[in-house]
Amino acid sequence: MSLAIKDILDHLHINDINDAFSTGNQWGSSANAVTKDIVSPTDGKKIASVKYATADEYNAVIETAKKAFKTWRQVPAPKRGEIVRQIGELLRENKKQLGTLVSYEMGKSLQEGYGEVQEMIDICDFAVGLSRQLYGLTMHSERPEHRMYEQYHPLGIIGIISAFNFPVAVWSWNAALAWVCGDVCIWKPSEKTPLTAIACQHIAQEVFKRNNIEEGVSCLVIGDRQIGELMSNDTRVPLVSATGSTRMGKAVSAAVGARLGKSLLELGGNNAIIITENADLDMSLIGAVFGAVGTAGQRCTSTRRLIIHESVYEAFKQKLVSAYGQIKIGDPLDENNHMGPLIDQDAVALYLDSIEKCKAEGGRFVVEGGKLEGGAYSSGCYVKPCIAEVENHFKIVQHETFAPILYLIKYSDLDEAIELQNGVPQGLSSAIMTNNLREAETFLSYAGSDCGIANVNIGTSGAEIGGAFGGEKETGGGRESGSDAWKVYMRRQTNTINYSKTLPLAQGIKFDL
Ligand code: NAD
Repeated sequence: MSLAIKDILDHLHINDINDAFSTGNQWGSSANAVTKDIVSPTDGKKIASVKYATADEYNAVIETAKKAFKTWRQVPAPKRGEIVRQIGELLRENKKQLGTLVSYEMGKSLQEGYGEVQEMIDICDFAVGLSRQLYGLTMHSERPEHRMYEQYHPLGIIGIISAFNFPVAVWSWNAALAWVCGDVCIWKPSEKTPLTAIACQHIAQEVFKRNNIEEGVSCLVIGDRQIGELMSNDTRVPLVSATGSTRMGKAVSAAVGARLGKSLLELGGNNAIIITENADLDMSLIGAVFGAVGTAGQRCTSTRRLIIHESVYEAFKQKLVSAYGQIKIGDPLDENNHMGPLIDQDAVALYLDSIEKCKAEGGRFVVEGGKLEGGAYSSGCYVKPCIAEVENHFKIVQHETFAPILYLIKYSDLDEAIELQNGVPQGLSSAIMTNNLREAETFLSYAGSDCGIANVNIGTSGAEIGGAFGGEKETGGGRESGSDAWKVYMRRQTNTINYSKTLPLAQGIKFDL
Protein backbone atom coordinates (compact mmCIF):
# COMPACT_ATOMS: atom_id res chain seq x y z
CA MET A 1 0.00 0.00 0.00
CA SER A 2 1.45 3.39 -0.95
CA LEU A 3 2.11 5.93 1.76
CA ALA A 4 -0.41 8.31 0.20
CA ILE A 5 -3.19 5.75 0.62
CA LYS A 6 -2.14 5.16 4.22
CA ASP A 7 -2.34 8.90 4.87
CA ILE A 8 -5.78 9.00 3.28
CA LEU A 9 -6.99 6.11 5.45
CA ASP A 10 -5.72 7.92 8.54
CA HIS A 11 -7.29 11.16 7.40
CA LEU A 12 -10.68 9.46 6.89
CA HIS A 13 -10.47 7.53 10.20
CA ILE A 14 -10.96 4.10 8.76
CA ASN A 15 -8.29 2.00 10.37
CA ASP A 16 -10.27 0.54 13.20
CA ILE A 17 -11.29 -2.98 12.25
CA ASN A 18 -13.72 -3.14 15.15
CA ASP A 19 -16.06 -0.54 13.73
CA ALA A 20 -18.97 -2.74 12.70
CA PHE A 21 -21.75 -0.24 13.22
CA SER A 22 -22.35 3.37 14.07
CA THR A 23 -25.34 5.23 15.38
CA GLY A 24 -24.14 8.62 14.32
CA ASN A 25 -22.40 9.55 17.54
CA GLN A 26 -20.69 6.34 18.49
CA TRP A 27 -18.98 3.46 16.79
CA GLY A 28 -19.60 -0.06 18.00
CA SER A 29 -17.39 -3.09 17.95
CA SER A 30 -19.04 -6.38 17.07
CA ALA A 31 -19.41 -9.60 19.01
CA ASN A 32 -19.43 -11.35 15.62
CA ALA A 33 -16.53 -13.59 14.74
CA VAL A 34 -16.83 -12.70 11.06
CA THR A 35 -13.99 -10.45 9.98
CA LYS A 36 -13.42 -9.67 6.32
CA ASP A 37 -10.28 -8.38 4.64
CA ILE A 38 -10.96 -5.64 2.12
CA VAL A 39 -8.57 -5.97 -0.77
CA SER A 40 -8.07 -3.34 -3.46
CA PRO A 41 -8.75 -4.65 -6.96
CA THR A 42 -6.17 -2.17 -8.24
CA ASP A 43 -3.10 -3.84 -6.69
CA GLY A 44 -4.46 -6.85 -4.80
CA LYS A 45 -3.28 -5.44 -1.46
CA LYS A 46 -5.27 -5.60 1.72
CA ILE A 47 -6.50 -2.12 2.69
CA ALA A 48 -8.07 -2.95 6.05
CA SER A 49 -10.37 -5.49 7.69
CA VAL A 50 -13.90 -4.99 8.83
CA LYS A 51 -16.15 -6.86 11.21
CA TYR A 52 -19.75 -7.69 10.36
CA ALA A 53 -22.44 -6.58 12.80
CA THR A 54 -24.67 -9.24 14.37
CA ALA A 55 -28.47 -9.34 14.24
CA ASP A 56 -28.59 -8.11 17.85
CA GLU A 57 -26.36 -5.19 17.03
CA TYR A 58 -28.50 -4.35 14.00
CA ASN A 59 -31.48 -4.44 16.32
CA ALA A 60 -29.88 -2.05 18.79
CA VAL A 61 -29.07 0.39 15.98
CA ILE A 62 -32.68 0.29 14.79
CA GLU A 63 -33.94 1.03 18.30
CA THR A 64 -31.59 4.04 18.55
CA ALA A 65 -32.77 5.28 15.15
CA LYS A 66 -36.40 4.82 16.15
CA LYS A 67 -35.87 7.02 19.18
CA ALA A 68 -33.94 9.62 17.19
CA PHE A 69 -36.75 9.91 14.64
CA LYS A 70 -39.07 11.32 17.32
CA THR A 71 -36.81 14.33 17.85
CA TRP A 72 -35.34 14.72 14.35
CA ARG A 73 -38.82 15.10 12.83
CA GLN A 74 -39.42 18.07 15.14
CA VAL A 75 -36.42 19.95 13.76
CA PRO A 76 -37.81 22.38 11.12
CA ALA A 77 -37.04 21.20 7.59
CA PRO A 78 -34.87 24.24 6.66
CA LYS A 79 -32.79 23.61 9.81
CA ARG A 80 -32.38 19.99 8.74
CA GLY A 81 -31.32 21.40 5.38
CA GLU A 82 -28.68 23.51 7.10
CA ILE A 83 -27.16 20.35 8.56
CA VAL A 84 -27.12 18.71 5.14
CA ARG A 85 -25.44 21.88 3.82
CA GLN A 86 -22.66 21.40 6.36
CA ILE A 87 -22.28 17.75 5.32
CA GLY A 88 -21.90 18.95 1.72
CA GLU A 89 -19.22 21.40 2.87
CA LEU A 90 -17.30 18.70 4.71
CA LEU A 91 -17.51 16.49 1.65
CA ARG A 92 -16.07 19.36 -0.40
CA GLU A 93 -13.16 19.59 2.03
CA ASN A 94 -12.58 15.83 1.80
CA LYS A 95 -13.32 15.37 -1.90
CA LYS A 96 -9.76 14.50 -2.86
CA GLN A 97 -9.22 11.96 -0.10
CA LEU A 98 -12.65 10.34 -0.34
CA GLY A 99 -12.54 10.30 -4.15
CA THR A 100 -9.12 8.63 -4.06
CA LEU A 101 -10.35 6.00 -1.64
CA VAL A 102 -13.42 5.33 -3.82
CA SER A 103 -11.03 4.76 -6.71
CA TYR A 104 -8.68 2.55 -4.69
CA GLU A 105 -11.32 0.45 -2.95
CA MET A 106 -13.67 0.03 -5.92
CA GLY A 107 -11.27 0.34 -8.88
CA LYS A 108 -12.93 3.12 -10.86
CA SER A 109 -10.73 5.85 -12.36
CA LEU A 110 -9.60 8.67 -10.12
CA GLN A 111 -11.66 11.14 -12.18
CA GLU A 112 -14.74 8.99 -11.64
CA GLY A 113 -13.90 8.67 -7.94
CA TYR A 114 -13.79 12.46 -7.64
CA GLY A 115 -16.94 12.65 -9.79
CA GLU A 116 -18.76 10.36 -7.40
CA VAL A 117 -17.94 12.62 -4.44
CA GLN A 118 -19.00 15.62 -6.54
CA GLU A 119 -22.38 13.94 -7.02
CA MET A 120 -22.66 13.70 -3.24
CA ILE A 121 -21.90 17.41 -2.91
CA ASP A 122 -24.43 18.20 -5.65
CA ILE A 123 -27.21 16.23 -3.99
CA CYS A 124 -26.50 17.96 -0.66
CA ASP A 125 -26.87 21.33 -2.42
CA PHE A 126 -30.09 20.10 -4.02
CA ALA A 127 -31.42 18.89 -0.67
CA VAL A 128 -30.70 22.23 1.02
CA GLY A 129 -32.99 23.99 -1.47
CA LEU A 130 -35.50 21.19 -1.23
CA SER A 131 -35.71 21.64 2.54
CA ARG A 132 -37.72 24.82 1.86
CA GLN A 133 -39.81 23.27 -0.90
CA LEU A 134 -41.52 20.19 0.51
CA TYR A 135 -44.72 21.44 -1.03
CA GLY A 136 -48.16 19.91 -0.86
CA LEU A 137 -51.08 20.94 -3.07
CA THR A 138 -54.20 22.78 -1.97
CA MET A 139 -57.49 22.05 -3.69
CA HIS A 140 -61.00 23.43 -3.72
CA SER A 141 -63.51 21.53 -1.62
CA GLU A 142 -66.92 20.70 -3.10
CA ARG A 143 -68.43 21.71 0.23
CA PRO A 144 -68.90 25.37 1.27
CA GLU A 145 -66.59 26.80 3.92
CA HIS A 146 -64.25 23.84 3.76
CA ARG A 147 -60.58 23.84 3.01
CA MET A 148 -58.64 20.91 1.56
CA TYR A 149 -54.94 20.40 1.21
CA GLU A 150 -52.24 17.76 1.17
CA GLN A 151 -49.19 17.73 3.36
CA TYR A 152 -46.17 15.50 3.56
CA HIS A 153 -44.87 13.97 6.79
CA PRO A 154 -41.65 12.04 7.31
CA LEU A 155 -41.85 8.25 7.13
CA GLY A 156 -39.42 7.19 9.87
CA ILE A 157 -36.43 4.90 9.38
CA ILE A 158 -35.13 4.62 5.81
CA GLY A 159 -33.07 1.48 5.16
CA ILE A 160 -30.46 2.03 2.46
CA ILE A 161 -28.85 -1.01 0.81
CA SER A 162 -26.18 -0.03 -1.70
CA ALA A 163 -24.12 -1.73 -4.42
CA PHE A 164 -20.34 -1.77 -4.82
CA ASN A 165 -20.14 0.20 -8.06
CA PHE A 166 -21.35 3.51 -6.63
CA PRO A 167 -20.15 2.88 -3.11
CA VAL A 168 -20.93 6.34 -1.73
CA ALA A 169 -23.06 8.42 -4.14
CA VAL A 170 -26.14 6.21 -3.88
CA TRP A 171 -26.15 6.55 -0.10
CA SER A 172 -26.05 10.35 -0.39
CA TRP A 173 -28.85 10.42 -2.99
CA ASN A 174 -31.03 8.70 -0.44
CA ALA A 175 -29.74 10.09 2.83
CA ALA A 176 -29.56 13.79 1.89
CA LEU A 177 -33.19 13.78 0.73
CA ALA A 178 -34.41 11.55 3.55
CA TRP A 179 -32.81 13.78 6.18
CA VAL A 180 -34.38 17.01 4.93
CA CYS A 181 -37.69 15.12 4.75
CA GLY A 182 -37.31 14.41 8.49
CA ASP A 183 -36.38 10.74 8.26
CA VAL A 184 -33.49 8.92 9.87
CA CYS A 185 -31.29 6.53 7.86
CA ILE A 186 -29.65 3.16 8.33
CA TRP A 187 -27.11 2.32 5.66
CA LYS A 188 -25.94 -1.16 4.79
CA PRO A 189 -23.20 -0.62 2.23
CA SER A 190 -21.93 -3.31 -0.13
CA GLU A 191 -19.74 -5.83 1.66
CA LYS A 192 -17.26 -5.24 -1.18
CA THR A 193 -16.79 -1.54 -0.42
CA PRO A 194 -17.40 -0.88 3.30
CA LEU A 195 -14.37 1.37 3.84
CA THR A 196 -15.64 4.32 1.84
CA ALA A 197 -18.93 3.91 3.72
CA ILE A 198 -17.11 4.11 7.05
CA ALA A 199 -15.37 7.26 5.81
CA CYS A 200 -18.72 8.84 4.85
CA GLN A 201 -20.23 7.94 8.19
CA HIS A 202 -17.35 9.70 9.95
CA ILE A 203 -18.01 12.81 7.86
CA ALA A 204 -21.77 12.82 8.53
CA GLN A 205 -21.20 11.99 12.18
CA GLU A 206 -18.86 14.93 12.66
CA VAL A 207 -21.55 17.31 11.42
CA PHE A 208 -24.37 15.76 13.47
CA LYS A 209 -22.20 15.88 16.59
CA ARG A 210 -21.15 19.46 15.95
CA ASN A 211 -24.82 20.42 15.82
CA ASN A 212 -25.68 18.48 18.99
CA ILE A 213 -28.11 16.25 17.13
CA GLU A 214 -29.17 13.17 19.04
CA GLU A 215 -27.53 9.94 17.85
CA GLY A 216 -29.47 7.72 15.48
CA VAL A 217 -30.17 10.09 12.58
CA SER A 218 -27.31 8.69 10.50
CA CYS A 219 -26.54 5.02 11.13
CA LEU A 220 -24.26 2.52 9.43
CA VAL A 221 -24.32 -1.25 9.76
CA ILE A 222 -21.55 -3.29 8.14
CA GLY A 223 -22.50 -6.74 6.92
CA ASP A 224 -23.44 -8.87 3.98
CA ARG A 225 -26.86 -9.69 2.57
CA GLN A 226 -28.08 -10.95 5.97
CA ILE A 227 -28.26 -7.39 7.26
CA GLY A 228 -30.14 -6.46 4.08
CA GLU A 229 -32.55 -9.31 4.72
CA LEU A 230 -33.12 -8.18 8.31
CA MET A 231 -33.93 -4.69 7.04
CA SER A 232 -36.27 -5.98 4.34
CA ASN A 233 -38.27 -8.00 6.84
CA ASP A 234 -38.27 -5.32 9.55
CA THR A 235 -41.62 -3.56 10.07
CA ARG A 236 -39.74 -0.78 11.89
CA VAL A 237 -38.25 0.21 8.51
CA PRO A 238 -41.11 1.70 6.46
CA LEU A 239 -38.99 2.25 3.34
CA VAL A 240 -36.15 0.10 2.05
CA SER A 241 -34.20 1.75 -0.76
CA ALA A 242 -32.17 -1.00 -2.42
CA THR A 243 -29.63 -0.63 -5.20
CA GLY A 244 -28.11 -3.72 -6.76
CA SER A 245 -28.80 -6.66 -9.01
CA THR A 246 -32.26 -7.63 -10.20
CA ARG A 247 -31.86 -10.88 -8.25
CA MET A 248 -31.39 -8.89 -5.05
CA GLY A 249 -34.25 -6.51 -5.92
CA LYS A 250 -36.69 -9.37 -6.37
CA ALA A 251 -35.77 -10.74 -2.93
CA VAL A 252 -36.05 -7.33 -1.25
CA SER A 253 -39.30 -6.52 -3.02
CA ALA A 254 -40.87 -9.85 -2.00
CA ALA A 255 -39.86 -9.41 1.66
CA VAL A 256 -40.88 -5.76 1.92
CA GLY A 257 -44.07 -6.39 -0.07
CA ALA A 258 -45.07 -9.26 2.20
CA ARG A 259 -45.28 -6.80 5.08
CA LEU A 260 -46.78 -4.09 2.83
CA GLY A 261 -43.80 -1.83 3.36
CA LYS A 262 -42.43 0.47 0.67
CA SER A 263 -39.42 -0.30 -1.44
CA LEU A 264 -37.44 1.89 -3.81
CA LEU A 265 -35.59 -0.37 -6.22
CA GLU A 266 -32.65 0.66 -8.42
CA LEU A 267 -31.59 -2.51 -10.21
CA GLY A 268 -29.76 -3.76 -13.26
CA GLY A 269 -29.72 -2.17 -16.69
CA ASN A 270 -29.08 -3.39 -20.23
CA ASN A 271 -28.59 -0.09 -21.91
CA ALA A 272 -28.41 0.58 -25.63
CA ILE A 273 -27.44 3.45 -27.89
CA ILE A 274 -29.17 3.61 -31.26
CA ILE A 275 -26.80 5.06 -33.86
CA THR A 276 -28.83 6.17 -36.86
CA GLU A 277 -27.76 7.02 -40.38
CA ASN A 278 -28.12 10.67 -39.31
CA ALA A 279 -25.76 10.42 -36.33
CA ASP A 280 -22.57 12.38 -35.88
CA LEU A 281 -20.28 9.35 -35.81
CA ASP A 282 -17.39 11.06 -34.04
CA MET A 283 -19.67 12.17 -31.20
CA SER A 284 -21.29 8.73 -31.15
CA LEU A 285 -17.88 7.14 -30.79
CA ILE A 286 -17.06 9.08 -27.61
CA GLY A 287 -20.49 8.30 -26.13
CA ALA A 288 -20.24 4.62 -27.00
CA VAL A 289 -16.67 4.04 -25.81
CA PHE A 290 -17.05 5.98 -22.56
CA GLY A 291 -20.37 4.24 -21.93
CA ALA A 292 -18.93 0.78 -22.52
CA VAL A 293 -15.51 0.97 -20.86
CA GLY A 294 -16.04 3.69 -18.22
CA THR A 295 -15.93 2.14 -14.72
CA ALA A 296 -14.83 -1.01 -16.62
CA GLY A 297 -18.44 -1.53 -17.71
CA GLN A 298 -19.59 -1.68 -14.10
CA ARG A 299 -22.15 1.12 -14.14
CA CYS A 300 -25.82 0.31 -14.01
CA THR A 301 -26.01 2.73 -16.97
CA SER A 302 -23.03 1.27 -18.87
CA THR A 303 -23.58 0.93 -22.60
CA ARG A 304 -24.00 -2.78 -23.29
CA ARG A 305 -25.55 -2.71 -26.77
CA LEU A 306 -25.05 -0.55 -29.85
CA ILE A 307 -27.93 -0.75 -32.32
CA ILE A 308 -26.42 0.62 -35.52
CA HIS A 309 -28.06 1.48 -38.84
CA GLU A 310 -26.91 -0.81 -41.65
CA SER A 311 -25.70 2.12 -43.76
CA VAL A 312 -23.13 3.22 -41.14
CA TYR A 313 -22.58 -0.15 -39.45
CA GLU A 314 -19.26 -1.11 -41.03
CA ALA A 315 -17.78 2.38 -40.83
CA PHE A 316 -18.73 2.72 -37.18
CA LYS A 317 -17.46 -0.76 -36.34
CA GLN A 318 -14.06 0.17 -37.80
CA LYS A 319 -13.99 3.37 -35.74
CA LEU A 320 -14.77 1.36 -32.61
CA VAL A 321 -12.13 -1.26 -33.28
CA SER A 322 -9.51 1.41 -33.79
CA ALA A 323 -10.64 3.33 -30.65
CA TYR A 324 -10.47 0.14 -28.55
CA GLY A 325 -6.88 -0.25 -29.73
CA GLN A 326 -6.07 3.06 -27.98
CA ILE A 327 -7.61 2.24 -24.59
CA LYS A 328 -5.09 2.25 -21.77
CA ILE A 329 -5.84 -0.28 -19.04
CA GLY A 330 -4.16 -0.15 -15.66
CA ASP A 331 -4.01 1.42 -12.21
CA PRO A 332 -7.10 3.66 -12.00
CA LEU A 333 -5.20 6.07 -9.76
CA ASP A 334 -2.96 6.83 -12.74
CA GLU A 335 -4.91 9.44 -14.69
CA ASN A 336 -3.35 8.31 -17.98
CA ASN A 337 -5.36 5.09 -17.86
CA HIS A 338 -8.87 4.93 -19.27
CA MET A 339 -9.95 1.71 -17.59
CA GLY A 340 -9.20 0.09 -14.26
CA PRO A 341 -9.95 -3.40 -12.92
CA LEU A 342 -13.18 -5.25 -12.26
CA ILE A 343 -14.21 -5.34 -8.60
CA ASP A 344 -12.85 -8.83 -7.86
CA GLN A 345 -11.84 -12.15 -9.36
CA ASP A 346 -15.41 -13.48 -9.20
CA ALA A 347 -16.39 -10.66 -11.54
CA VAL A 348 -13.55 -11.68 -13.87
CA ALA A 349 -14.86 -15.26 -13.88
CA LEU A 350 -18.37 -14.02 -14.77
CA TYR A 351 -16.92 -11.88 -17.57
CA LEU A 352 -14.99 -14.84 -19.04
CA ASP A 353 -18.03 -17.05 -18.73
CA SER A 354 -20.17 -14.48 -20.59
CA ILE A 355 -17.65 -14.36 -23.45
CA GLU A 356 -17.83 -18.15 -23.76
CA LYS A 357 -21.62 -18.10 -23.66
CA CYS A 358 -21.70 -15.39 -26.31
CA LYS A 359 -19.43 -17.42 -28.58
CA ALA A 360 -21.52 -20.54 -28.01
CA GLU A 361 -24.62 -18.67 -29.15
CA GLY A 362 -22.89 -17.49 -32.32
CA GLY A 363 -21.41 -14.14 -31.25
CA ARG A 364 -18.43 -13.01 -33.39
CA PHE A 365 -15.81 -11.04 -31.51
CA VAL A 366 -14.36 -8.14 -33.49
CA VAL A 367 -12.28 -7.09 -30.49
CA GLU A 368 -11.26 -10.08 -28.40
CA GLY A 369 -11.53 -10.07 -24.62
CA GLY A 370 -9.50 -11.90 -22.01
CA LYS A 371 -7.90 -11.60 -18.64
CA LEU A 372 -4.74 -9.51 -18.24
CA GLU A 373 -2.02 -11.16 -16.18
CA GLY A 374 1.16 -10.29 -14.32
CA GLY A 375 2.99 -7.03 -13.61
CA ALA A 376 0.59 -4.14 -13.19
CA TYR A 377 -2.27 -6.63 -13.49
CA SER A 378 -1.20 -8.91 -10.66
CA SER A 379 -4.40 -8.33 -8.64
CA GLY A 380 -6.04 -10.69 -11.14
CA CYS A 381 -8.93 -8.27 -11.70
CA TYR A 382 -7.93 -6.63 -14.99
CA VAL A 383 -9.60 -7.61 -18.26
CA LYS A 384 -9.66 -6.40 -21.85
CA PRO A 385 -12.75 -4.55 -23.07
CA CYS A 386 -14.21 -6.46 -25.99
CA ILE A 387 -16.78 -6.14 -28.75
CA ALA A 388 -18.98 -8.84 -30.28
CA GLU A 389 -21.45 -8.87 -33.16
CA VAL A 390 -24.60 -10.56 -31.90
CA GLU A 391 -28.35 -10.95 -32.24
CA ASN A 392 -30.46 -9.17 -29.65
CA HIS A 393 -32.33 -12.34 -28.70
CA PHE A 394 -29.18 -14.20 -27.54
CA LYS A 395 -29.65 -15.23 -23.91
CA ILE A 396 -26.35 -13.61 -22.95
CA VAL A 397 -27.35 -10.34 -24.62
CA GLN A 398 -30.61 -10.30 -22.65
CA HIS A 399 -28.60 -10.62 -19.44
CA GLU A 400 -26.68 -7.82 -17.71
CA THR A 401 -23.01 -8.84 -17.53
CA PHE A 402 -21.32 -6.34 -15.24
CA ALA A 403 -18.16 -6.04 -17.34
CA PRO A 404 -16.84 -4.25 -20.46
CA ILE A 405 -18.45 -6.43 -23.13
CA LEU A 406 -20.09 -4.42 -25.88
CA TYR A 407 -22.60 -6.00 -28.29
CA LEU A 408 -23.17 -4.74 -31.83
CA ILE A 409 -26.56 -5.21 -33.48
CA LYS A 410 -27.52 -4.07 -37.00
CA TYR A 411 -30.89 -2.53 -37.91
CA SER A 412 -32.57 -1.22 -41.03
CA ASP A 413 -35.45 1.02 -39.87
CA LEU A 414 -36.13 3.06 -36.76
CA ASP A 415 -39.15 1.09 -35.57
CA GLU A 416 -37.03 -2.04 -35.63
CA ALA A 417 -34.23 -0.24 -33.75
CA ILE A 418 -36.65 0.88 -31.03
CA GLU A 419 -38.07 -2.62 -30.77
CA LEU A 420 -34.56 -4.02 -30.34
CA GLN A 421 -33.68 -1.36 -27.78
CA ASN A 422 -36.82 -2.19 -25.78
CA GLY A 423 -36.48 -5.93 -26.35
CA VAL A 424 -34.69 -6.77 -23.10
CA PRO A 425 -36.07 -7.38 -19.59
CA GLN A 426 -34.35 -4.29 -18.13
CA GLY A 427 -35.36 -0.65 -18.65
CA LEU A 428 -32.83 1.74 -17.17
CA SER A 429 -31.03 3.96 -19.69
CA SER A 430 -31.18 4.46 -23.44
CA ALA A 431 -29.93 6.89 -26.07
CA ILE A 432 -30.23 7.82 -29.70
CA MET A 433 -27.52 9.53 -31.71
CA THR A 434 -29.11 11.51 -34.51
CA ASN A 435 -29.33 14.97 -36.01
CA ASN A 436 -32.78 14.19 -37.38
CA LEU A 437 -35.62 15.74 -35.38
CA ARG A 438 -38.17 13.10 -36.38
CA GLU A 439 -35.92 10.27 -35.26
CA ALA A 440 -35.15 12.00 -31.97
CA GLU A 441 -38.76 12.83 -31.15
CA THR A 442 -40.02 9.37 -32.13
CA PHE A 443 -37.44 7.84 -29.79
CA LEU A 444 -38.67 10.10 -26.95
CA SER A 445 -42.38 9.57 -27.67
CA TYR A 446 -44.73 7.04 -26.05
CA ALA A 447 -43.86 4.74 -28.96
CA GLY A 448 -40.16 5.14 -28.31
CA SER A 449 -37.80 4.08 -25.56
CA ASP A 450 -39.42 2.27 -22.62
CA CYS A 451 -36.58 3.19 -20.25
CA GLY A 452 -36.52 5.53 -17.24
CA ILE A 453 -33.77 7.52 -18.95
CA ALA A 454 -33.83 8.37 -22.67
CA ASN A 455 -31.14 10.68 -24.08
CA VAL A 456 -30.51 12.33 -27.43
CA ASN A 457 -26.91 12.79 -28.55
CA ILE A 458 -25.59 11.79 -25.14
CA GLY A 459 -24.55 8.27 -24.14
CA THR A 460 -26.39 6.10 -21.63
CA SER A 461 -24.19 6.79 -18.61
CA GLY A 462 -23.44 9.88 -16.56
CA ALA A 463 -26.79 11.17 -15.28
CA GLU A 464 -27.07 14.50 -13.46
CA ILE A 465 -28.61 14.64 -9.99
CA GLY A 466 -31.30 17.19 -10.99
CA GLY A 467 -33.52 14.67 -12.76
CA ALA A 468 -35.27 11.70 -11.18
CA PHE A 469 -33.02 8.67 -11.67
CA GLY A 470 -34.22 5.11 -12.17
CA GLY A 471 -35.71 2.66 -14.62
CA GLU A 472 -38.62 0.47 -15.58
CA LYS A 473 -39.27 -3.28 -15.90
CA GLU A 474 -36.58 -5.37 -14.18
CA THR A 475 -34.73 -2.19 -13.21
CA GLY A 476 -37.36 -1.95 -10.49
CA GLY A 477 -39.37 1.24 -11.14
CA GLY A 478 -37.74 3.33 -8.40
CA ARG A 479 -36.80 7.00 -8.77
CA GLU A 480 -34.08 8.66 -6.73
CA SER A 481 -32.18 11.89 -6.61
CA GLY A 482 -33.69 15.03 -8.19
CA SER A 483 -37.09 16.24 -9.44
CA ASP A 484 -39.87 15.06 -7.09
CA ALA A 485 -38.10 11.84 -6.02
CA TRP A 486 -38.27 13.19 -2.44
CA LYS A 487 -41.94 12.23 -2.22
CA VAL A 488 -41.09 8.56 -1.73
CA TYR A 489 -39.37 9.42 1.57
CA MET A 490 -42.55 10.96 2.97
CA ARG A 491 -46.13 9.96 3.63
CA ARG A 492 -48.86 12.05 2.07
CA GLN A 493 -51.83 13.15 4.12
CA THR A 494 -54.98 14.79 2.77
CA ASN A 495 -56.61 17.19 5.22
CA THR A 496 -60.12 18.61 5.01
CA ILE A 497 -61.12 21.35 7.43
CA ASN A 498 -64.72 22.42 7.95
CA TYR A 499 -65.00 26.01 9.19
CA SER A 500 -68.78 26.23 8.61
CA LYS A 501 -71.48 25.79 11.23
CA THR A 502 -72.94 22.65 9.63
CA LEU A 503 -71.63 19.23 8.71
CA PRO A 504 -72.38 18.73 5.00
CA LEU A 505 -71.36 15.32 3.65
CA ALA A 506 -69.46 14.80 0.42
CA GLN A 507 -71.37 13.77 -2.72
CA GLY A 508 -74.46 15.55 -1.30
CA ILE A 509 -75.36 12.60 0.94
CA LYS A 510 -78.03 13.46 3.52
CA PHE A 511 -77.78 12.05 7.02
CA ASP A 512 -80.13 13.94 9.36
CA LEU A 513 -80.59 12.96 12.96
P1 NAD B 1 -25.76 -7.11 -5.44
O1 NAD B 1 -27.18 -7.31 -5.78
O2 NAD B 1 -24.87 -8.29 -5.39
O3 NAD B 1 -25.63 -6.40 -4.01
C1 NAD B 1 -26.17 -5.11 -3.77
C2 NAD B 1 -26.46 -4.97 -2.29
O4 NAD B 1 -27.56 -5.80 -1.94
C3 NAD B 1 -25.32 -5.37 -1.37
O5 NAD B 1 -25.25 -4.45 -0.31
C4 NAD B 1 -25.73 -6.75 -0.88
O6 NAD B 1 -25.20 -7.10 0.37
C5 NAD B 1 -27.24 -6.61 -0.81
N1 NAD B 1 -28.01 -7.84 -0.95
C6 NAD B 1 -27.73 -8.90 -1.74
N2 NAD B 1 -28.71 -9.83 -1.65
C7 NAD B 1 -29.63 -9.33 -0.80
C8 NAD B 1 -30.88 -9.81 -0.29
N3 NAD B 1 -31.37 -10.99 -0.65
N4 NAD B 1 -31.56 -9.02 0.57
C9 NAD B 1 -31.10 -7.82 0.95
N5 NAD B 1 -29.91 -7.33 0.52
C10 NAD B 1 -29.19 -8.07 -0.35
O7 NAD B 1 -25.20 -6.02 -6.49
P2 NAD B 1 -23.71 -5.52 -6.72
O8 NAD B 1 -22.94 -6.58 -7.42
O9 NAD B 1 -23.16 -4.90 -5.49
O10 NAD B 1 -23.99 -4.31 -7.74
C11 NAD B 1 -24.15 -4.46 -9.12
C12 NAD B 1 -25.61 -4.39 -9.50
O11 NAD B 1 -26.21 -3.21 -9.02
C13 NAD B 1 -25.79 -4.34 -11.01
O12 NAD B 1 -26.86 -5.16 -11.36
C14 NAD B 1 -26.13 -2.89 -11.27
O13 NAD B 1 -26.82 -2.65 -12.47
C15 NAD B 1 -26.92 -2.56 -10.06
N6 NAD B 1 -26.96 -1.11 -9.82
C16 NAD B 1 -28.10 -0.45 -10.14
C17 NAD B 1 -28.15 0.93 -9.97
C18 NAD B 1 -29.38 1.70 -10.35
O14 NAD B 1 -29.48 2.83 -9.93
N7 NAD B 1 -30.30 1.14 -11.09
C19 NAD B 1 -27.05 1.62 -9.45
C20 NAD B 1 -25.91 0.89 -9.12
C21 NAD B 1 -25.88 -0.48 -9.30
